[in-house]
Amino acid sequence: MRILLMGAPGSGKGTQAGFIAEKANVSSVSSGDLFRKNLSDNTELGVLAKTYMDRGEYVPDDVTIRMVLDWVNDPSNISGFVLDGFPRTLPQAIALDKELGSVDKVIFFDVPTADLIERLSGRLICKTCQASFHKIFYPSKNGMICDQCPDDLYQRDDDKPDVVTNRLKVYMQETQPVIEYYDQQNKLINIDGSKSVDEVQSKLEIQLND
Ligand code: AMP
Repeated sequence: MRILLMGAPGSGKGTQAGFIAEKANVSSVSSGDLFRKNLSDNTELGVLAKTYMDRGEYVPDDVTIRMVLDWVNDPSNISGFVLDGFPRTLPQAIALDKELGSVDKVIFFDVPTADLIERLSGRLICKTCQASFHKIFYPSKNGMICDQCPDDLYQRDDDKPDVVTNRLKVYMQETQPVIEYYDQQNKLINIDGSKSVDEVQSKLEIQLND
């Protein structure tokens, strides 16, 4: 099963990626996490990616495609995976189709813009396992400590208000056409991502069993 997760920043893709991967019995990866891992390992790719991430812009297609296809082509992932946050541009989607033939399901988390801003401004991420929480809507049981790891939670620099505005603008320009691309292929599954984590999971379960 090859599953793509699409949706604006803050739409809940990252929160649900682990759940979906477990149900489909495959691994999941987030392209943003791959960039952040490169950055913490101080690789050339990580340093390059940071210049774009800090401004809320997309990292250029050539390096992004290479990084994600390397992960996809790993023998442990090739037969099935959940990709969170890739593809985000038409060239990325076309490159993925060219590499794989096609994917099975494209899950689109639909959330109104006002909710996205509210979610991103309160979002907290675990430094170690990258689990995602929200100060008000989905707090960790242990305050500023992850209740899965447990390590410290932090606010991502690109979740700060000025960068969030640009991320949402870039998303509308670059990623909206990718959603249409998969809709035309009849691959798109629309999920109302404005609901609670549990409600979204029940809807996902129905779609994954289909
Ligand atoms: P995310 O963690 O998914 O919000 O991604 C954080 C940042 O990583 C984005 O704002 C982009 O700068 C970069 N990024 C992640 N995935 C992609 C992608 N598929 N294409 C280009 N840039 C990406």
